[in-house]
Amino acid sequence: MSPERKVKSALAKKLFVKTYGCQMNVYDSARMADVLAPLGYVVADGPEGADMVILNTCHIREKAAEKVYSELGRLRALKQARAAAGGRMTIAVAGCVAQAEGAEILRRAPQVGLVFGPQTYHRLPELIARAARKQGADSGGVLDIEFPVESKFDHLPEAAAPQGVSAYLSVQEGCDKFCTFCVVPYTRGAEFSRSVAEILAEAERLVAGGAREIVLLGQNVNAYHGAAPQDERADADETWGLGRLIRRLAEIEGLVRLRYTTSHPRDLDDELIAAHAEVAELMPYLHLPVQSGSDRILEAMNRGHCAEDYRRKVARLRAARADLALSSDFIVGFPGETDRDFADTLGLVTEIGFAQAYSFKFSARPGTPAAAMGGQVPEPVKAERLAMLQTLLAAQQAAFNQSQAGRVLPVLLESRGRKPGQLSGRSPYMQAVHLVAPAHHLGQVVAARIETAQANSLSARLWAAEMTEVPA
Ligand code: SAM
Ligand code: SF4
Repeated sequence: MSPERKVKSALAKKLFVKTYGCQMNVYDSARMADVLAPLGYVVADGPEGADMVILNTCHIREKAAEKVYSELGRLRALKQARAAAGGRMTIAVAGCVAQAEGAEILRRAPQVGLVFGPQTYHRLPELIARAARKQGADSGGVLDIEFPVESKFDHLPEAAAPQGVSAYLSVQEGCDKFCTFCVVPYTRGAEFSRSVAEILAEAERLVAGGAREIVLLGQNVNAYHGAAPQDERADADETWGLGRLIRRLAEIEGLVRLRYTTSHPRDLDDELIAAHAEVAELMPYLHLPVQSGSDRILEAMNRGHCAEDYRRKVARLRAARADLALSSDFIVGFPGETDRDFADTLGLVTEIGFAQAYSFKFSARPGTPAAAMGGQVPEPVKAERLAMLQTLLAAQQAAFNQSQAGRVLPVLLESRGRKPGQLSGRSPYMQAVHLVAPAHHLGQVVAARIETAQANSLSARLWAAEMTEVPA
């Protein structure tokens, strides 16, 4: 290390961000670090000795707030130890618990200096300055959980550090759908799409920084409708949907894979389905949550689609891309769910066949309509249904993984594996693949022969150094 870098690193302030929940939070945490980099903060691996600790929280399911409070208890001890050693630690709570709990966090956890929501972290430098003044005056913490008129994206700096071979890019935020079980419309606010130009610029920077795959993110990513590039607009209000955005992104030199998550069945339009048929860079894997197979429950959830709509969309997707691997989200034990409703969910799963899926017990989120509905399902019934559903989903995932054995697949190698000489990557279908290969293959799409399939990953052998993606 040069003497100059040594001095810089000695002067650097340490930042530790603990991320809970979804990919959007992972993206937000990276952007918080970008906002703080010009203030001299460098990212640390743990909270010990950190000058600033941010808990970037998730409120989607049970006990989220309680988990945050117990983490805050542990941090209080670290903060006291740091103060005893003559240092200072600022503790911040960000994300959806911050948005939902607000001032309650400052009341219950006075060690917290800052509470801010998902839409205001671009103001972090100003919030930190205010927190420092308050800390000096010993007068409590700073709270900023507004939904500001300005978009945070207009104020965030360019990403400071490359994200790696596979990078997240947030294109859409918030949700206007108000499913009766969900906190997102309250914690993330109204639906908002970034402009195509802004997204293209960020994607080009990510690729220049080494990304070969980009995962487009949004709470409802396929509701995307961002302003068209200025020189390509037929009229001032023209917007592009996700399908058109994907086609344009696929033209970026060096970008070999595109994915998007999370989608809503209602917003899956013709343009996006056609992109699955025609854009080779768009990977044949789709996370398309259905939540339940019962029309009665889907209606009570305010999902705006029935089971048959879902079946039809899946049939169209499979007609466009026969090898499409599907993933989904399920909630069991929604208020009023009977054995018959649950049987409909099992029936739909059996019929569709999922390569992977996430399933949860209904969790009553304070302030959402479903939390106050009659017919709450007892915990043991929820647990039993979840176990049954997960057994079925695990069997489908195992069968899907098994069906890949013997195939030669393109695998994008993203990182070093746990064993010496091993590299890890993803198949087109999002499966984790491990193989032994020289490190210079990192960041490349290689041909891998799948040898054995495990519950959550595939073991493979390097077959050829180069492979193009399997066309639709
Ligand atoms: N926008 C996506 C959609 O509409 O499918 C879902 C986004 S949500 C952040 C992720 C998943 O969390 C949902 O699909 C749902 O299965 C689950 N989830 C949300 N609220 C829940 C609740 N109150 N109880 C249990 N699971 C919940
Ligand atoms: Fe929540 Fe998704 Fe429903 Fe929006 S569409 S309210 S994010 S579950």
